[in-house]
Amino acid sequence: MDLTESPAEQAFRAEARAWLEANVPRPALPSGDTRDGFAAHLDWERALFEARWSVVSWPERYGGRDASLWEWLIFEEEYYRAGAPQRVTQNGIFLLAPSLFEFGTQEQQDRILPRMAAGQELWAQGWSEPAAGSDLAGITSRAERDDAAGGWRLYGQKTWTTRGAFCTHLFGLFRTDPAAERHRGLTYFLADLRSPGVEVRGFERLDGDEGFADVYFDGAFVPERDVLGEVNRGWPVAMATTGSERGLTLRSPSRFVTAANRLVELARSRNLDSAGLDSAALDSAALDSAGRESAGLGSGLRDRVVQSWIEARAYHLFTLEQVTGIVEGRSPGARSSLNKLYWSELDVRLHETAMELLGADAEADGPWSRGFEFSLAGPIYAGTNEIQRNIVAERLLGLPRA
Ligand SMILES: Cc1cc2nc3c(=O)[nH]c(=O)nc-3n(C[C@H](O)[C@H](O)[C@H](O)COP(=O)(O)OP(=O)(O)OC[C@H]3O[C@@H](n4cnc5c(N)ncnc54)[C@H](O)[C@@H]3O)c2cc1C
Repeated sequence: MDLTESPAEQAFRAEARAWLEANVPRPALPSGDTRDGFAAHLDWERALFEARWSVVSWPERYGGRDASLWEWLIFEEEYYRAGAPQRVTQNGIFLLAPSLFEFGTQEQQDRILPRMAAGQELWAQGWSEPAAGSDLAGITSRAERDDAAGGWRLYGQKTWTTRGAFCTHLFGLFRTDPAAERHRGLTYFLADLRSPGVEVRGFERLDGDEGFADVYFDGAFVPERDVLGEVNRGWPVAMATTGSERGLTLRSPSRFVTAANRLVELARSRNLDSAGLDSAALDSAALDSAGRESAGLGSGLRDRVVQSWIEARAYHLFTLEQVTGIVEGRSPGARSSLNKLYWSELDVRLHETAMELLGADAEADGPWSRGFEFSLAGPIYAGTNEIQRNIVAERLLGLPRA
């Protein structure tokens, strides 16, 4: 791994930093999972696109900068450093798009990607159903061929679609061959949620956000050109998409490094043995055991702040090693389950520590309490952590099936 930045990468970083510093909305936008917040986020997404920062790693013809994976990571670092808004277009840009690049036809890429990048078409992911979450191959939503119309008719219900209430499109799996083995008779469809035969019913989360939706299909038409990959061979395409969600693209390391730095700041602001608890000191490994004792580090709390900081950097280094592999042509495959376990559990610990630091103040609505609530969902979405442990056991360690 060579972590030295080239002059071109340094210039890229400087340009991104300057633009973000001048343009990131202040004060922070309301949650992108509320209707008003979502609209405000879309304005931001479109500003990003206009300045060509929306999809930096994509080809220029789709609105990107042809940036390398390393440059993408640099941009992500700067994005989180600047405290820029959560990407409400992420299910399209970070999850579907990598699969479109890998499995999509040229026509699909040319038609879909520019509108996705510009925030004109907004994608929700449709895997889960009321009786099929972890057991994704157990889905019962189906598609029937409509030869006269030149496509397919969709039937069934998808649930837990993040921001589905605000999206225009949905990607997901539907059963196309009920007689085939469970993983084989499935096809990956790209559906327009504004079509006749689709009903989107939003519902609120416990925290009051309202972007979740149930999506009902009752004969909605999808043209043949909106099948991604081959008919009855949707499973590997879906696994590629979920790999993106568990792994690098959705949860870039900067998210956690920035959160850990904020945690250190919080600890200092709460007068928690502030000596030694600044990033510079941590970076230079100045926090030796003698230092800790002299700073009165009796409480386990301070150690936990440091532990979160270390874990965030460990995740950063782990992903850099993964990027090196990808650049050299190796796919992360089942290793993305390791990422998912690591970032989701790190995120819970980090926010629990913040809650303890805040004490009674943690009850007030604010970024830390909201972040804490959302961190608790991390071990569930993108495939539960129990399922990720099964994957690690079976596919990485070669242990017998559970
Ligand atoms: C914030 C959030 C956003 C989400 N967004 C989306 C979205 O956009 N699109 C979408 O399709 N879905 C979405 N989901 C749904 C998510 O993918 C499912 O909740 C998840 O896959 C678990 O499925 P389930 O809820 O049906 O639980 P179940 O599958 O019923 O699991 C219940 C419990 O049993 C455990 N379990 C099940 N099978 C096994 C096994 N074989 N071995 C060990 N333990 C097992 C699970 O780990 C879990 O603890 C979202 C969920 C959350 C929380």
